[in-house]
Amino acid sequence: MTKVSKDFIYQIPKAELHMHLEGSLEPELKLQLANKHNIDLGMTTVEEITETYKFNDLPSFLAVYYQGMNVLLERQDFYDLAMAYFHKVKTQNVKYCELFFDPQAHTTRGVAFEEIFEGYYQACQDAKDLGISAKLIMCFLRDMSQESAIEHYHMAKPYKDKILGIGLDSDERDNPPLKFREVFKMAKDDGFNITMHCDIDQVDSIKHIKDALYTIGVSRIEHGTNIVEDQELVEYAKKHKIGFTCCPVSNSFVTDDMKGKEIKYLLRHGVKVTVNSDDPAYFLSYIADDMYALAKHENLTKEDIIQLAKNSFEIAWMSDQEKQGYLEQIDDFVRNYQE
Ligand SMILES: [Zn+2]
Repeated sequence: MTKVSKDFIYQIPKAELHMHLEGSLEPELKLQLANKHNIDLGMTTVEEITETYKFNDLPSFLAVYYQGMNVLLERQDFYDLAMAYFHKVKTQNVKYCELFFDPQAHTTRGVAFEEIFEGYYQACQDAKDLGISAKLIMCFLRDMSQESAIEHYHMAKPYKDKILGIGLDSDERDNPPLKFREVFKMAKDDGFNITMHCDIDQVDSIKHIKDALYTIGVSRIEHGTNIVEDQELVEYAKKHKIGFTCCPVSNSFVTDDMKGKEIKYLLRHGVKVTVNSDDPAYFLSYIADDMYALAKHENLTKEDIIQLAKNSFEIAWMSDQEKQGYLEQIDDFVRNYQE
């Protein structure tokens, strides 16, 4: 049961702040790109590929995920991948997004940084024609070394003005935030916005969140709902308006719970949580699908959904004036919406 209509959830203007472009590779595009590049996937139908998008924890997900990267070889492929995402989320009234990309997943296969970046960046430019403003966040893979992260940081320097922020993703186990302390300091000193994943229910989750916030100084955290275990952290997050980009459907794939109670608790206690899709092609759920799943699971109200949508712009890395414009769009939508 939900106290708010599905249509309201899908149509309210929203921002997506936690979506990995490589995680938006739908089986159809994967097959199409494999055929284009004469890559033998060992599968010839969309159904067969869909069948492989099955996993029950983070490592098994990452295995399928990285295998999918192999079809992305030239800038047109990266462009097509991003444009497919924009077309999809236009139907869910996404107005703004800050999207993750993982250069190391491609450079390690011999793809030039320039090909990756130019493809994604051109798609972000063309998203404007769909009424979507899109920015890029470059992520480091935390299961690789800090040296590799620094090397890629330097590769990205020529594109500095076109990159909104720096993030950290992939498998957190044995790869804590402080492993990347130096490269994040460089990024912060150079004026980049910084964020990082603190996945749910990790060994030392609370320590990782504290290190990310207090030592590295991120302004946002991906996931991070374990803060509910530590009231001091909840207060800190409220006071400093730290954003938490949560992904309920993704959570339910890699653990046995969407962490809906935690998200609802934080939302209603004034912490800036948002709902996002993470890897929509693999979790079969785009942003509004995630919001609807959470609303049903936690019996959310219309006010909860409005707050989630507002949070998504309030914690976005944009000027106060831009935020105000989007918040007014939400108010207009709510005022004019007819059930
Ligand atoms: Zn993520």
